[in-house]
Amino acid sequence: MLFKNVIGQKELKQHLIQVAKADKIAQTQLFAGQMGYGTLPLALAFIQYVFCENRTETDSCGQCSGCKKVDDLQHPDLHFFFPVVQSISKISSKLLPDWRIQLKESAYFDLYEWTQRMDDRERKPIISTEESQEIIRKTALKSYEGGYKVYIIWMAEEMNAICANKLLKILEEPPDKSLFILLCESTEHMLPTILSRTQLVNVPRINEDVLAHYLVNSLLIDQNTAESIASFSAGNYIKAKHQIEQQENTDFLELFKNLMRSSFKKDVTAMLDWAEETAQQTKEKQKLFVLYALHLIRQSILLNYTSGAINQLSNDEAEFLKNFAKFIHGKNIQSFMQTMNDIHYHLERNANPRIVFTHLSFQVMRYIHA
Ligand SMILES: [Zn+2]
Repeated sequence: MLFKNVIGQKELKQHLIQVAKADKIAQTQLFAGQMGYGTLPLALAFIQYVFCENRTETDSCGQCSGCKKVDDLQHPDLHFFFPVVQSISKISSKLLPDWRIQLKESAYFDLYEWTQRMDDRERKPIISTEESQEIIRKTALKSYEGGYKVYIIWMAEEMNAICANKLLKILEEPPDKSLFILLCESTEHMLPTILSRTQLVNVPRINEDVLAHYLVNSLLIDQNTAESIASFSAGNYIKAKHQIEQQENTDFLELFKNLMRSSFKKDVTAMLDWAEETAQQTKEKQKLFVLYALHLIRQSILLNYTSGAINQLSNDEAEFLKNFAKFIHGKNIQSFMQTMNDIHYHLERNANPRIVFTHLSFQVMRYIHA
């Protein structure tokens, strides 16, 4: 991770660069701040700068072997530890493949996203006693490349008390050339004995103007919306991303409602208008909409058979499905699912979207009245 790819945080970046250049790196540090502020990306950029063989005044070179190994998450002296669901594994090394996939997708993620990736049942992950033994074992290893050995402990507040206590000694007197970087969202949940042994690096929220600017340029959000999202999410990029996804879902909900209403009324003009409007969306959005429609259809069935006990719906969605769900039942669910899957398949293969969505609206009309 290059510093320039971390959103905002200009002053903290300068500070970290100064520390590395002056060779005044504290051996045990605690980066504290919401993950959406960029706590992990900043730590990764810092580590890369430490390992870079050709660094500039403002960033790592991105080209040298040190940079490449950190960027590929293959540096032999860089170790990651993170919370894991204990019934899957006691230690994080078994989940490194998932961890790498996550980091390659984005270093902006939080414990909730990580849990979802790891476990369908979303059970609570922790950093266990076994993990502390693993950390201590790895600190005894020699440095492969002769430089720093770096130990990143992500979401350190999830260490259980035994694990934290076992690490006190090594944090107090870290072996030569080893560098511990603990990351947490809130220092309140950290043991005072850990806090007293680490140098605090406070990660502040992303400046709202900077975040808005980023949303406009990188996610192609319009200026007004970007400003409102940046302010609503209080400088937290993960929250901003979720907000944007929700907004897209609101558009999708309207599209879904219009499809169902016009098909229910057998209003052919409205159905054709709907197909036309949907065909105007980008190809990516069209496919996402089909998946979204599939999701609402499954949720409708679930509402019918569990009287709403389990659902994954926003309030607006739940409101609409309250009346709509009864139109999805055992006699048409298969047809609905089959058609949605077919539509998705055809869109992937570049079928004409106007024809595809017109066909969909007529099929929906048949199924609803089946
Ligand atoms: Zn480099």
